[in-house]
Amino acid sequence: MTMKATDPGAFRAQTPVLCDRASDFIARNTFGRPTLVLDLDRVGVQYDALKAGLGAADVHYAVKANPDPRIIAALVAKGSHFDCASRPELELCLAQGARVDQLSFGNTIKRGSDIAYAASVGVTLFAADAPEELEKIAANAPCARVYLRVIVENSQADWPLSRKFGAAAGHIPALLRQGRALGLQMVGLSFHVGSQTRKAAFWGPVLDQIVQVWDTAQRSGYGLNLLNIGGGFPAFYGEAVDAPTHYAANVMRQVHARFGDVKVIAEPGRGMVAEAGHIVAEVLLVARKSPLDLHRWVYLDIGKFSGLAETMDEAIRYEFITAKDGMASGPCILAGPSCDSADVLYEKTPVNLPNALCAGDRVIIRNCGAYTTTYASIGFNGFPPLDVVVI
Ligand SMILES: *Cc1c(COP(=O)(O)O)cnc(C)c1O
Repeated sequence: MTMKATDPGAFRAQTPVLCDRASDFIARNTFGRPTLVLDLDRVGVQYDALKAGLGAADVHYAVKANPDPRIIAALVAKGSHFDCASRPELELCLAQGARVDQLSFGNTIKRGSDIAYAASVGVTLFAADAPEELEKIAANAPCARVYLRVIVENSQADWPLSRKFGAAAGHIPALLRQGRALGLQMVGLSFHVGSQTRKAAFWGPVLDQIVQVWDTAQRSGYGLNLLNIGGGFPAFYGEAVDAPTHYAANVMRQVHARFGDVKVIAEPGRGMVAEAGHIVAEVLLVARKSPLDLHRWVYLDIGKFSGLAETMDEAIRYEFITAKDGMASGPCILAGPSCDSADVLYEKTPVNLPNALCAGDRVIIRNCGAYTTTYASIGFNGFPPLDVVVI
């Protein structure tokens, strides 16, 4: 339902029809505050769909996307593995029944004592992208198997992961040499194509980069045998994306064309859980700033600091569904309820919403199962964090 800036005439709302367990539950219940309703069965369906396309690759669910223990338990039951970023995430997965050999410690920025904890419980697979990190791993987990994260230069993702993670291709040979000298098993490479990479075809140029680094290492005799292709599997936010099995199979074809029969790990986060849940929110206020204002301002009871952090830079554009969809509509600037002027969700590209929308109306924000519940501030302005109902 979002209106493109380039398409100012398109003010007729298209009503997406929501028919799934989560929206049925929402329709039958009332909620006193913004709530994510998440359908656990849907997570299982999504796991199966991704796994069908990924074939022999191990699926390491990126726990940060949604660390609800019930999701972890459901994925343990499916046989999923897990990518953890911290000691609490490792403990969470172990508490829900994951085996240590199903866990990877994939954050490249780890506390030494957390590495020691991971090693003490039997986790062996670690990520690194810098000399100091290799030293920390060697000191705290001498038996570690390590993969090096390579920086991705040309992401076409909606939510690129920037240059914060990874080492430049040119640094990889020195890191491999150092890791080996420290006695670590240097087993492979990882990368992240960027979150919400909508098309499998966008992976090609990134894989081309990584295979060059890989081949250089193999020519130097490192015998790498593990390729961690990270996440990036997309969710539907209104713009077309490939279906998960088709998408994953396409990615794997591109991987095998370049890397042959290598062992692959994939780390879907968003693609696993986003479509399993919707947020129920409420309109608190609709206003125009002046009589000439073309846009209405629509203030919701949820904002950037209470679960919708991914609206930062308007990178992720959620779909909004109201009972008045289909009636005459127009462009709105959407904002959250907090007293922070940065709490504006969509302004550069306004959102098309019904003209009749008013305070008290329910708004369903579609496919919000990923990167919402734990992206909420604790009581800023007195607003509680996003509530969660798992069905
Ligand atoms: C966040 C993250 C993921 C998950 O990314 P999605 O785009 O949500 O699939 C996978 N791997 C690593 C290392 C991550 O940090």
